[in-house]
Amino acid sequence: MLDRDAVIAWLRESDQSRLFELFAWADRVRHESVGDAIHLRGLLEVSSFCVRQCAYCGINATNRTARRFRMDRDEILAAAREAKGYGYGTIVMQGGEDYGIKAEWMADIIRAMKQDVGLAITLSLGERRPDELKLWKEAGADRYLLRFETSDPALYRLIHPALPGGFEDRIQQIRMLQEIGYEAGSGVMVGIPGQSWDSLADDIMLFSTLDLDMIGVGPYIPHPDTPMGAWMLEGRGEVAFPKLPEGEQVPGNAETAFKVIALTRLLCPDSNIPSTTAIATLNREGGRRQGLMCGANVVMPNLTPAKYRECYEIYPNKATLVETAGVCARNLKDSFEQMGRFIGSGAGGRVRH
Ligand code: SF4
Repeated sequence: MLDRDAVIAWLRESDQSRLFELFAWADRVRHESVGDAIHLRGLLEVSSFCVRQCAYCGINATNRTARRFRMDRDEILAAAREAKGYGYGTIVMQGGEDYGIKAEWMADIIRAMKQDVGLAITLSLGERRPDELKLWKEAGADRYLLRFETSDPALYRLIHPALPGGFEDRIQQIRMLQEIGYEAGSGVMVGIPGQSWDSLADDIMLFSTLDLDMIGVGPYIPHPDTPMGAWMLEGRGEVAFPKLPEGEQVPGNAETAFKVIALTRLLCPDSNIPSTTAIATLNREGGRRQGLMCGANVVMPNLTPAKYRECYEIYPNKATLVETAGVCARNLKDSFEQMGRFIGSGAGGRVRH
């Protein structure tokens, strides 16, 4: 079993032959624990409104250049039918923390979607009140994604400020989702300014104690119209982010994300782990595929209608900006077959061992 020191050593490893061993080990554990199926979860970005001021996110409330939209009921249900047509087992409705999404309105959509297409439903709509989360669960939602981004409390407060007068504890919120009965997913960002190797190892160790159904890992991609992106790209802005000594800052690159995926697979063998769009954005040629070869078993093709896609710019130049859902579905099937893998059938929920 990997302990924290071993995780830190692997994270710092730069020898490519050693990393090849790590990725092969994780791929073996993936094969033994969750098999060769790759589950497709259709991602639908339902709203770009958000009340939060996350320092890294392009649709945060203070970004005046962000274009805002909220899909209507008919558009959402049409996308769910499209997902069903492509053979996806799950639809993920993701959005900003948008209180224009009324709890009853979303509950009605969840009920209609369940009745209409019967897909598993994942929600990723930020922090909502317990009664709203319960209502959506009772309406038929199966899973909820809420990333904790970093386990370092000071860094978290800096990049994800609480609402005025508010206090937040994401870990406690994830536990609440599990108590309500959701399959809870979470995840982290890799390469946050001020994130050290030790801190990233703590994130990975935390995954193994949270009993998560899905764990997402995305490299940090700076967005120029955000406080953190402006500071990273141009050294400007009102907020100063921590600077670590040489060699201690985690880089926001694809290789580090692959290491985190591999280590997460080794510590959480039966969790679902996506090869994320952020990785595919940094490495368009083979990023998604490589993620699948070092422990990942989920891909989330984008179902968002073209007219809204570029408005949901949480970071720039997303890999899925131009790829239509239909082309993506065809390409994925071919690429999985070349890897000796196949598209999973059904909801693709977590199978505990
Ligand atoms: S990360 Fe989520 S909660 Fe934070 S600003 Fe972006 S959409 Fe809103």
